[in-house]
Amino acid sequence: MTRNSHLFYQTRARRPMLAEAKGVYMWDVDGTRYLDGSSGAMVSNIGHSDPRVIEAMRRQMDKSTFGYRLHFESEPGEKLAEKVASLSPEGMEKVFFVSGGSEAVESAIKLARQYAVTVGQPSRWKVISRSPSYHGSTLGALALTGYAPLTDPFLPMMQAMPKIPAPRAYLDGLDLNDPATGLHYAAMLEAKILEEGADSVLAFIHEPVGGASTGALVPPAGYMKAVRDICDRHGVILIHDEVMSGGGRTGKFMGAEHWDVAPDIIAISKGFGAGYTPLGAMIAHERFVEPVLDAGGFMHGHTYAGNPLACAAGLAVLDVVETDGLMQNAARIGALLKSRLQDLMQRFPFIGDVRGEGLLLAFELVSDRQTMTPLPKALSAYLELVELAYAQGLIIYSRRTRDGIEGDHFLVCPPMIATEDHVEEIIDKLTIALDQFAAKAGP
Ligand code: PLP
Repeated sequence: MTRNSHLFYQTRARRPMLAEAKGVYMWDVDGTRYLDGSSGAMVSNIGHSDPRVIEAMRRQMDKSTFGYRLHFESEPGEKLAEKVASLSPEGMEKVFFVSGGSEAVESAIKLARQYAVTVGQPSRWKVISRSPSYHGSTLGALALTGYAPLTDPFLPMMQAMPKIPAPRAYLDGLDLNDPATGLHYAAMLEAKILEEGADSVLAFIHEPVGGASTGALVPPAGYMKAVRDICDRHGVILIHDEVMSGGGRTGKFMGAEHWDVAPDIIAISKGFGAGYTPLGAMIAHERFVEPVLDAGGFMHGHTYAGNPLACAAGLAVLDVVETDGLMQNAARIGALLKSRLQDLMQRFPFIGDVRGEGLLLAFELVSDRQTMTPLPKALSAYLELVELAYAQGLIIYSRRTRDGIEGDHFLVCPPMIATEDHVEEIIDKLTIALDQFAAKAGP
């Protein structure tokens, strides 16, 4: 099929035409096979084209493809909400479906705000977030995003929100396992709340395990609990953006479960629909939802939210995750992949850090591992290495990591069905790409 010039995304760059995708592999129309080493954008958690999900969607389509939520309830919607509530922290039993991550984050901040207004705290409207971070592309979620190239053009159009640094212990030369490190970064939140005036601060939002913006950043010891305590102390609503880290990829359904901390509101998407359908959810503790519903209703909603087809797909995805023990597999294979990526540090001195949890993993390239000095910007490593890997039939995902302008990290996040053989294939292809990068760029 020929391409036309009507379609456009972020840039003019175009990719091969996709022909087929199954399991961890994808094929283009020329028959070239790619190992999906990033699950798309950390989405295809259960792999591509699982026949059980396709069958569940087909069954639902035979019954009805769409029913608007103000006209009909749907059985898949009821069941999925019940399932999600059962997988969420205690008391977080209210589920609001959406069709993507940005919508989930928007829903979270709007529920928080409407709750504050309803309970007589209209002065609270600021949502503190971290930098770097990514919370979505719609203007509300973008206002929380700490990534200058994405936000700068739109600053006059949105209410920029206060930021604190993400806890990047590896860059600051601090020990990730020392609880003092967690307290050090959490203290920045408390200082920011006091600086802004606690009675103006509505919420704090962060990713328990970082996504693309930080490259699978894992919080230092003590951080998660200290943040929870600070929010409680100042009446600030704690929102976890689990759009990427939720759904099981880290080895637990919610990333924050690794630290046994429950927030007040959660946003999930990506692996929740696992690429079978656009799907996301905002999950809230009932104490935030009931007053808003009592006072007349949540002034927010999206047309496709909770449609039966999306919910049927989401239910089938969760069923596959549980039946096949994919969270356990993500923990086991993730540990193996992480150690194999760490092995690569011996061969490539320009790999500065390997980090992540389960199968949400990343490595960062630097010119000096001791000082974590980034590679020269002109090398555009974050683009180059992705292309070299792509030419080897390996898909990985990259971003610039330092304040949005320099630094290069790469997410290696295959579907949760990955096996030991897939890990070796990823490492083999990545080794070739890194060798080629070293020969070409000479870092
Ligand atoms: N939040 C996080 C942590 C994300 O990683 C993303 C997407 O990458 C979003 C929000 C926005 O999700 P979406 O692209 O589905 O709108």
